[in-house]
Amino acid sequence: MLTSVLPLDSRVAIVTGSSQGIGRAIAIELSSLGLKVVVNYSNSKIAAEKVVKNITENGGEAIAVQANVANSEDINKLIDTTLNTFGRIDILVNNAGVTRDKLLLRMKPDDWQTVIDLNLTGVFLCTQAVIKIMLKQKSGRIINISSVVGEVGNPGQANYSAAKAGILGFTKSVAKEVASRSITVNAIAPGFIDTNMTKDIEKENILQSIPLRRLGTVKEVAGLVKFLAVDPSAAYITGQVINIDGGMVMN
Ligand code: NAP
Repeated sequence: MLTSVLPLDSRVAIVTGSSQGIGRAIAIELSSLGLKVVVNYSNSKIAAEKVVKNITENGGEAIAVQANVANSEDINKLIDTTLNTFGRIDILVNNAGVTRDKLLLRMKPDDWQTVIDLNLTGVFLCTQAVIKIMLKQKSGRIINISSVVGEVGNPGQANYSAAKAGILGFTKSVAKEVASRSITVNAIAPGFIDTNMTKDIEKENILQSIPLRRLGTVKEVAGLVKFLAVDPSAAYITGQVINIDGGMVMN
């Protein structure tokens, strides 16, 4: 049945990297609407199980599934477990991401490869795995978490910026490939959001570059994902990059 006409509590979402931070907030936001949620994690089993507990204690349905998004066998396991447990996949949020910041001259090939593998190849593997299911369903929504640095760059983040920029091209190409089957694919470009990933940045300098003069919250990002993932009006939005950055990048 088409996702757009399926009741919210019959829809199933996979959120990669949802043991903490933005992914955790997205998993909780979607589950609060009644969606069944797969909380994916790589290492943080206890944190992921806490997210599931939070969801189930509030009347929702969720499972935690360990899978490294950069490993295709793990992704097959993630998809199989989701289908065996919930029977379908309506929404994929490609959120898992890491940083290995270094100026280019000091960047080791491993710093480059790890970030490309997790942040970009992971998006490819997860999207390719779910798209087969969505094509058969003739419905689905995919939301890729990129970053403002994929649009404008950032010193010390050549690896991360390249991966996040890659997500933007990937999003637009796949959006064009699958639009005829009513599947939408969009990217979100957050600015600085208050999570573990940004806990060590020098806030004073950063705030000068943000017109709204504050970091964003995970709840704000989750709200935008919710709109793209379930709102009926979002069915006509595809191949877009939506910034949520306090005005840092005005396209
Ligand atoms: P975070 O707090 O560091 O959380 C990262 C999440 O990704 C964790 O749940 C982690 O789980 C998971 N993860 C890492 N490697 C993984 C792998 N190989 N396979 C599966 N899961 C993996 O980061 P965040 O700030 O919430 O960022 C979430 C996304 O937003 C990332 O894509 C990031 O690049 C993007 N973003 C963040 C900001 C920001 O300011 N925070 C800005 C722009 C974009 P484990 O602990 O289990 O590994």
